[in-house]
Amino acid sequence: MNTYKNLRNLLTIVLMSVSMLVVAQTKPNVVILATGGTIAGAAASGTQSGYTSGQVTIDAMVNAVPGITNLATIKGEQISNVGSQDMSFEIMLKLAKRINELAAAKACQGVVITHGTDTMEETAYFLNLVVKTDMPVVLVGSMRPSTAVSADGPLNLYNAVAVAADPNAKGRGVLLVMNDWIHSAQTLTKVSTTAVQTFMSPIRGLIGTSAYGTNDFYRYPDQKFGTKSEFSVDGATKLPRVDIIYADVDMPADLIDASVERGAKGIVIAGVGNGNMPKVALDACARASKKGVVVVRSTRVATGTVGRNVECNDDELGLVASFNLNPQKSRVLLSVALLKPRKLDEVQKIFMNY
Ligand code: GLU
Repeated sequence: MNTYKNLRNLLTIVLMSVSMLVVAQTKPNVVILATGGTIAGAAASGTQSGYTSGQVTIDAMVNAVPGITNLATIKGEQISNVGSQDMSFEIMLKLAKRINELAAAKACQGVVITHGTDTMEETAYFLNLVVKTDMPVVLVGSMRPSTAVSADGPLNLYNAVAVAADPNAKGRGVLLVMNDWIHSAQTLTKVSTTAVQTFMSPIRGLIGTSAYGTNDFYRYPDQKFGTKSEFSVDGATKLPRVDIIYADVDMPADLIDASVERGAKGIVIAGVGNGNMPKVALDACARASKKGVVVVRSTRVATGTVGRNVECNDDELGLVASFNLNPQKSRVLLSVALLKPRKLDEVQKIFMNY
């Protein structure tokens, strides 16, 4: 009888160990690529507004988040450690290549990128165009440094890992998770210099929400991205120069001419209203276009699209309308598109599809 009982206990222990092993093995692998930003920032006290970005290592960030390792097996890599005002196309190319390598090696089920919020929309949108994977790639940051009272970084990081580890996040393009909201790289934009709720997705709205690691997805982005994108940065070491010029009342047009003289391959106008600008500036844009510089009319207005041939004749002037993209994302798209020579109508189609 005792032998039977012992055998039964042994069998139970073996079965429990096997199931624990299976659970441990099925925990998704998530790689965190750290670039710096406020999420890794530190100040001298918890209520000080001044601080230095990019002071804290990945390990310290992960250790500050209770329970995060229950969501996934996490590995970290430091790509850079800068405030995102110092983000560069060089670092973005490094990020894209690393993600493509991880995807090709099937090394993980998802990637999280810690990043400053100032230029997060540029990096997110760039990666959305050039990473060749459907696995979740999730950017995350914080508005308060790690040393602040009520730092927002730890919960943002927890939610970002939960989204990166979630099979339902696959095929939705590059995402950004902050303050419980999941945004598409295509739509998100920073709207407040200091508020915790700084990212919004005007017009198209959120991809979903993530609350304490529980995700709720509402939609798939409708533009092209990831494996459906025609763009590649394989072999690219730098991007062509594209300048942004801000339009306003009585603006001088010579900045547009100067940009052409300085060798810009593309110019994005942060236009007034529906991508408009004074006549002198339109004339300068037409001159630039005749010289082979691709000029895109975007807008300084926070929401709404810039349409073709609305208040100016794009066909005659040789201009491109940005449709959904704000100036900073237009610059990213144009820089990537101009990695190879393209006709104006081809660039216009690109702006309508991405
Ligand atoms: N300038 C910093 C950065 O973008 C602060 C913004 C932030 O991370 O929230 O890295």
